[in-house]
Amino acid sequence: MNSTEFRKRGKEMVDYIANYLDTIENRRVTPAIEPGYLKHLVPLEAPQKGEDWDDIMRDVEDKIMPGVTHWQHPRFHAYFPSGNSYPSILGDMLSDGIGCIGFSWAASPACTELETVVLDWLGKMVGLPEEFLSFSENSKGGGVIQGSASECVLVSLLAARAHTIRQLKKQHPFVEEGVLLSKMMAYCSKEAHSCAEKAAMMAFVKLRILEPDENQSLRGATLQQVMEEDRAAGLIPFYVETTLGTTSCCSFDNLAEIGPVCEEFGVWLHVDGAYAGNSFICPELRGPMNGIEYASSFNFNPNKFMLTNFDCSLMWVKDRFRLTQALVVDPLYLQHSYSERSIDYRHWGIPLSRRFRALKLWFVIRSFGVEGLQKYIREHCRLAKRFEAHVRREKRFEVASPVNLGLVCFRLRGSNESNQKLLSSINASGKLHMVPASLNDKYVIRFCVCRQTATDADIDCAWNVITQFATDMQDILAEKIVDKNELEEAKNKEAEKEEEESTEEVFQMLNRKDNKSLRYKRSFFVRMVSDPKIYNPKIVRSLPAGSSRRHTTSETIEDNNVSISSPTIDSDNLTELLQQTNIKEVFSNVKAKYKIISKTTSDLSDRLMATNSLLQATRMQEVKH
Ligand code: PLP
Repeated sequence: MNSTEFRKRGKEMVDYIANYLDTIENRRVTPAIEPGYLKHLVPLEAPQKGEDWDDIMRDVEDKIMPGVTHWQHPRFHAYFPSGNSYPSILGDMLSDGIGCIGFSWAASPACTELETVVLDWLGKMVGLPEEFLSFSENSKGGGVIQGSASECVLVSLLAARAHTIRQLKKQHPFVEEGVLLSKMMAYCSKEAHSCAEKAAMMAFVKLRILEPDENQSLRGATLQQVMEEDRAAGLIPFYVETTLGTTSCCSFDNLAEIGPVCEEFGVWLHVDGAYAGNSFICPELRGPMNGIEYASSFNFNPNKFMLTNFDCSLMWVKDRFRLTQALVVDPLYLQHSYSERSIDYRHWGIPLSRRFRALKLWFVIRSFGVEGLQKYIREHCRLAKRFEAHVRREKRFEVASPVNLGLVCFRLRGSNESNQKLLSSINASGKLHMVPASLNDKYVIRFCVCRQTATDADIDCAWNVITQFATDMQDILAEKIVDKNELEEAKNKEAEKEEEESTEEVFQMLNRKDNKSLRYKRSFFVRMVSDPKIYNPKIVRSLPAGSSRRHTTSETIEDNNVSISSPTIDSDNLTELLQQTNIKEVFSNVKAKYKIISKTTSDLSDRLMATNSLLQATRMQEVKH
């Protein structure tokens, strides 16, 4: 591709992206495909000769998009937002165009210097103490862009580990590092992100996971008690990881209490504010930062809640020498004559090579301005309150934890199982996407305001979908209880009768559009999708039993991710499908292969649904084999 074609294709690509985002709501929020779908659609060998650009783009729409989960969709309410905005996309495009690798100042001075400047801007924007900033007087601190919050947590742990071992070696010069390491203890809350566990595992240090209080906040007294116990047992507390804005429910560890305990024990205090940290650009939301002055390091992700595309996770340290001492290796070929007077970010993280990520952040901050970014965050908070008000108005539901920022945890009053069913039905429908969390052993549904331009109407629409599914599910449960015995009996009779029924009845049924039939149609649909096992037994998951097992939210989320990928039949899609399909052929094919499982109701619409579902299942099986 030469520059002439690049100009043409680049403009087309910008149009494609803008059209995609403008019309995103015409797509299902989650894809209706099975694992392995793509290998049936694309060649398994790379092409020997370059292909036509139009063909590639056609495949994007036909083969890639059907497997995309649309994180910018107005019905996407899962996880946390995935930051996105046009200035950020353009900033990243420029970074790709420049294509420099900024591992040292000399490797591309602007790449390093803009990163330092922007990190100081953001440090001031969120109200970090001066010691964290690069350009404050006599500062030993500074900020750096890492790829993810997980990296920030790992890197801070490695720095704390290296520092502690150095200190211990001074006191015990003849004791092996491995022996010292075996005594060292790190701490985090049960509600900390699983990346804390992963970091401890990779750094080969012990991690004590502590119980938070009933509001999922780790308290100073809990930490104090366990550290005293550990010290008395000959262990060495060296690192505490706290969270401002936990993944499951956006709770805040109590920094004001934890900070002084860390100071007393001389341990490294890391504060992970992956999502919530962004909100501290609004002064009225800074309450949870009380105690940040005790922190050794702090991180948050503008790629979550500051309209900046992934990857962009910011990390500040009070003492950059403690960080770099853990990570410096300096081969001759990377040294340069300005080393003493400049920052080489390769010593601040794991990889050597680094993209020019500061550019997109700089574009975002300059084009929105601090006020624009504050407005966006405040709007998400307002919309979460609107959703909370909906939940509180409905007696069937309850709010499961205090609502902070753009996240609402809620549940149906009732069993974990019914909430799990409700969520999997909703997700499988492709109408809305949310993920669960486990709070005090209760299965809760997380509703996060995610879309950049989310509106009241989006929130109301989501709530309508949720309540409609809940009503359908509750209808079915009520039916089930009343008809349990009759159901068995009727099932047998229906199965016998089925053989004699004429396919003509299907056409009659199609013409019956009365409310009752629609209601049954819908409720049958819910029954189908609420049990993904119908399609794929491998995806049946249950909540981990008991509290003894360490259960991280990320696991729950991943678990749910599996079930989302189950294929579904949306009732609207189904109607469309029915119109397109030769029903006679469908019906007789399926009849030939299966005995249709029938239900109590003689409503043929239900049986047609079953027919189609079985047909889909058959196709799915055929694809698999
Ligand atoms: N910490 C918290 C509080 C999170 O919510 C998350 C992810 O949602 C992470 C860490 C991990 O973030 P990353 O994917 O940037 O590693």
